[in-house]
Amino acid sequence: MAKSNQYSGICTKAVHAGEGPDPATGASAPSISMSSTFVTDESAGFSAHELDETSPFVYARWGNPTVRQLERKVSALEETEATVCFASGMAASSAVFFSLLSAGDHAVVSNVCYAGVAELVRDSLPRFGIEISLVDSSDTDAVAAAMRPNTRLVYVETPANPILRLTDLQAVAGIAHAGGAKMAVDSTFATPIATKPHALGVDYVMHSLTKYIGGHGDALGGSLSGTREAMAHINTEAAIHYGGVLSPFNAWLIQRGAATLPIRMAQHQKTALAVARYLEGHPKVGQVLYPGLDSHPQRDLAKRQMANTSAMLSFQAGDGEKLAAIMAEHLGIIHYAVSLGHHRSLICWIGTDGIMETSFRLEGDALAAYRAVAGDGVFRMSIGLEDADDLIADLDQALARV
Ligand SMILES: *Cc1c(COP(=O)(O)O)cnc(C)c1O
Repeated sequence: MAKSNQYSGICTKAVHAGEGPDPATGASAPSISMSSTFVTDESAGFSAHELDETSPFVYARWGNPTVRQLERKVSALEETEATVCFASGMAASSAVFFSLLSAGDHAVVSNVCYAGVAELVRDSLPRFGIEISLVDSSDTDAVAAAMRPNTRLVYVETPANPILRLTDLQAVAGIAHAGGAKMAVDSTFATPIATKPHALGVDYVMHSLTKYIGGHGDALGGSLSGTREAMAHINTEAAIHYGGVLSPFNAWLIQRGAATLPIRMAQHQKTALAVARYLEGHPKVGQVLYPGLDSHPQRDLAKRQMANTSAMLSFQAGDGEKLAAIMAEHLGIIHYAVSLGHHRSLICWIGTDGIMETSFRLEGDALAAYRAVAGDGVFRMSIGLEDADDLIADLDQALARV
């Protein structure tokens, strides 16, 4: 394996970190260790609790060589000591909540975030006696006001799905730590190319590897990155005991995708900006939300916190539900589909009433703040790696039908 002190650039890290020629065969590409169990000459009893990075592999839920390679690559990209991979982003997210919180504890969570996380914190956590405060985490004063003596975790998402709302990670991590709580971020939309949350004070950096890091819309996966100590706890409690570990095959696919993350993100950003500018100039399109546009309400924070503005954007246009049906039928290149972060461009409509009922359940000022940017609903678009001109022509012919 190339020594990590032999390189420092992000592209080199993406290609080489965590992997190296196979010592047994000389294979340049990493091989897949599709094995649940490992033969050992140690006759002593094994305990999952005594494992560390130098321990031999024993059983794949405790550790697997292919998954370990991906974990090292993600750590190199995030500049953290350690990473634990999971079967999905939701497994990584629930690992944070369930490993850190006990009955009687309190957590502060972004009131707008990935729908699965929104539903987990609203529906499941209270059943375990965990109290939740939902706040607009773009408002640091609101985060500070929500802290209680029993707050153990502040969990935010930035940029947040689906309205691209940003949270100032350094400021919120400061508030969390001052209150004796840990800070976690869902950094899926940002990727490590945009933001290195750990350097800003975040304790747990979560990704849905399914999205940009895997980057090809095939394998599901998730990750948590942080200190060696924090990840050792996550590994024992969540990976080994809850068991939602990543399959070596998916780790191999995601590792292959991750090698091109920096160059993909550069292209994603360029194309997203071109499409966002086209949409902003279209007479039938209302508000366009993209952190790379000067019109983004938190453009200054985007400049400060995001070295790449990624390729997720949202926009309002006409009668959303009607246009969504037109898009599903008439878009040629862009797939009308959920998910995000890969080479194919994807679009879907997220109606405000619907997402409030199923997931966010905002009321009063929080609902008004959401409606102020999302209206009755937004088209959430994940800009892929096609040519900007082709994407624009595809949107143009669909918008001409309304
Ligand atoms: C997709 C996604 C998740 C969930 O990840 P899965 O891999 O689908 O479980 C969580 N957060 C964000 C921001 C996502 O986009």
